[in-house]
Amino acid sequence: MRLSKMHIKTLREVPNEAEIASHILLLRTGMIRKLVSGVYGFMPLGWRSIRKIEDIVRQEMDAKGAQEIHMSALQPAELWQESGRWFAYGPEMWRVKDRNQREFCLGPTHEEVFTDIIRNDVTSHRQLPMNLYQIQTKYRDEARPRFGLMRSREFIMKDAYSFDKDFQGLDKSYDDMYEAYERVFTRCGLKFRPVEADTGAIGGSNSHEFTALSEVGESEIAYCDHCDMAATVERAECVDAAADGDDVAMLEMEEVFTPGTKTIEEVANFLDLPQEKTIKALLFVTYDEEGKQNGYVAAFIRGDRELNMVKLVNALNIPEHSIEFADEEKMGAVTGAVGGFTGPVGLHDCKIVVDSELVGLKNLAAGACKKDHHIKNVNYGRDYKGDIVCDLKTLKVGDPCPVCGAPVQHARGIEVGQVFKLGTKYSAAMNATYKDENQKDQLIVMGCYGIGVTRTLSAVVEQHHDEDGIIWPVSVAPYHAIISLVNIKDEEQVAAAERIYEELQRAGVEVLLDDRNERPGVKFKDADLLGIPVRITVGKRAPEGVVEYKLRREAEKSEKTIEEAIADCIALVNAERYGM
Ligand code: ATP
Ligand code: MG
Repeated sequence: MRLSKMHIKTLREVPNEAEIASHILLLRTGMIRKLVSGVYGFMPLGWRSIRKIEDIVRQEMDAKGAQEIHMSALQPAELWQESGRWFAYGPEMWRVKDRNQREFCLGPTHEEVFTDIIRNDVTSHRQLPMNLYQIQTKYRDEARPRFGLMRSREFIMKDAYSFDKDFQGLDKSYDDMYEAYERVFTRCGLKFRPVEADTGAIGGSNSHEFTALSEVGESEIAYCDHCDMAATVERAECVDAAADGDDVAMLEMEEVFTPGTKTIEEVANFLDLPQEKTIKALLFVTYDEEGKQNGYVAAFIRGDRELNMVKLVNALNIPEHSIEFADEEKMGAVTGAVGGFTGPVGLHDCKIVVDSELVGLKNLAAGACKKDHHIKNVNYGRDYKGDIVCDLKTLKVGDPCPVCGAPVQHARGIEVGQVFKLGTKYSAAMNATYKDENQKDQLIVMGCYGIGVTRTLSAVVEQHHDEDGIIWPVSVAPYHAIISLVNIKDEEQVAAAERIYEELQRAGVEVLLDDRNERPGVKFKDADLLGIPVRITVGKRAPEGVVEYKLRREAEKSEKTIEEAIADCIALVNAERYGM
């Protein structure tokens, strides 16, 4: 492609809202174009890189025997009502009506649609296992679309669904996809880490997220250097503090006047106790499917801990969007809670969820459900009970690893893919069965597997750039090489550049020829910004058959004969074009 003919518009200024390198660089290179918040289009260079990622995904999916199909983004509400997710999916779902008021959504994901195909098409055990996938546009009305392609409202996802006869089959399908994902992200040039994950709105039992390591990522992961524990912080289990032994006597409860001590820190200081000797209360209100308030929840954890919201909604078995912090005054009128002074003793008419470690800890201080008062020596069992007792804690840096006990560490990353064992959640809800060897109906066992194609592009740029621009790995670069023609009026330079351009193309190298009427400085700057892996500069020494050869990822440049430059470029591209 000749740059003089290409539709490309690089920007010098980027909008203020672009805060992170990938967003800034994808806009500056003109690879993506914003239409409206969270909605982007792709210009020629951007689209080429997207297609390269898609090709890698396709090759690895096909290699595992998955079959590509393509379903509509528009989905009837009835399918989602069958699975119970029309409500559960919440406000992220784009809901639309047709002219007859029939409800649809623009698919945020496709479990229901794929389950529907399979229940209609699969009858016999002989047709299983099967894995179907698509690469398609998804819609999610994200609360905070940001960081460009990273969290957008329209994005491209590869979604695959596996269908097996039994759970053993699912294990195999899951492992296959896990391997395929490792290859996909390696081939895209990403440094990543698979971590255990929560199953969220999708449901099911096991799950892993593939996290591209990056400081700007929105996923926080907890990991251990002493064993291979790695999980999202939402998912990571916590070790309960050791219970107090029988030698510790339960003391009498004692109400204390603690004026103005609302925070745990204030209470602990006032009572001269460590924060571990206090109980923290978090109060919530819940809503039903019609959006009507249907109850209150109080969660209790040790004073120095942080509540893990995902663990709480999982314990309550409700969607995340149906719970929010309560207005303490309104809640107080019903339950006896008192802003800043709520404790488990004296609370009524609300669901009480207690972190498991509180059960074994004795003589803690908690709010007294009375303004300006706390109670000392509160003990689980004797003084209060939980409707639910479970792990509600967030695993923090330095906490003991749930597997080996060593102090855990945290890292940030970008979730580029996720795999789930769904089991029979959807097949049971939607009656997707097959006949086994004995002609008996059995539920199909499912898995689902997503890759954010557009988010992966952002993650690659996030990991591969410097202050001058993008540094594409060859496997996903929009073009492999760029020929910077220094003087377009110099016939010898033009002839040399044209020759290199043709020979490289003949060898299957994807080449840009910068034949624009621009100063060399501008051409070099743009080549760096665009991040094309190989730059061949054709300048003054062209008549002697000598050009300058430079890799974007290396600082040094060297002079080579035209033949050498061509041969080296072809060799490099052939070695790295598949990314493995
Ligand atoms: P997140 O936790 O980041 O909201 P998710 O867990 O809801 O993502 P999945 O339902 O697992 O996402 O979707 C599969 C993949 O699609 C994700 O791993 C991610 O790469 C991509 N993805 C999800 N939401 C978005 C979005 N708003 N913009 C771009 N890519 C997305
Ligand atoms: Mg996910």
